[in-house]
Amino acid sequence: LLQLNNIFKWVNSGGQRVFLLKDINLEVQEGEFISIMGPSGSGKSTLLNVIGMLDTFDEGEYQFLDEPVHSLKEKYRANLYKEYIGFVFQSYHLLDELTVKENLEMPLLYKKLKGSERKAKVADMLDRFNIVGKKDLFPAQLSGGQQQLVGVARALISNPKLILADEPTGNLNSKQGEEIMELFKELNDEGVTIIQVTHSEKNAEYGSRIINLLDGRMI
Ligand code: ATP
Ligand code: MG
Repeated sequence: LLQLNNIFKWVNSGGQRVFLLKDINLEVQEGEFISIMGPSGSGKSTLLNVIGMLDTFDEGEYQFLDEPVHSLKEKYRANLYKEYIGFVFQSYHLLDELTVKENLEMPLLYKKLKGSERKAKVADMLDRFNIVGKKDLFPAQLSGGQQQLVGVARALISNPKLILADEPTGNLNSKQGEEIMELFKELNDEGVTIIQVTHSEKNAEYGSRIINLLDGRMI
């Protein structure tokens, strides 16, 4: 699915390079379920954002579905991202002023789908996630676990090949967290590739491979 070769990312601080990612080499096959672990500040979110094309890097090559991400124009990169990647965030990142239904519809508007297709897909997701009764509520009217269900549903609605999740259970209680992990497992069984950042050994066990980061390096 994707391959990172000799990826470096740095910021300049007082004339010195501070490395956020150092010589990252990683190949991910379709259907894998990978966990990224490591201490706070080790570069986990930075790596996930680079993989998700939300962040750039300074050196190295990145192939995604045989496209050279490192040399693509911004607009084309954004198209790749919208077509193939779904993001799940620790703090849900739902739009507060939109209802559940409208939040779910958002990625489909970006993809310029017709109204009738959007409606059908939103209805499918509400059904699949058992949140039909919540469709007209606003995020603030939901529990954290319910908000994250909506977050996952929104990430999935455009049928991405790859789900990237940055501590998706970080703000949930253990039962809610388990629900999200079981959902990821189910999606992975259906063929969706998953890369999650997690601090929890238990969550990492849902995956088949663990990548450990320390000071921006894979160890
Ligand atoms: P956590 O577990 O706390 O979420 P993390 O492993 O996700 O940590 P990152 O957010 O990837 O860590 O950050 C890695 C390091 O890079 C940190 O020291 C952070 O302060 C630094 N960093 C990230 N983005 C920038 C930036 N734009 N400018 C300067 N430093 C940055
Ligand atoms: Mg982080």
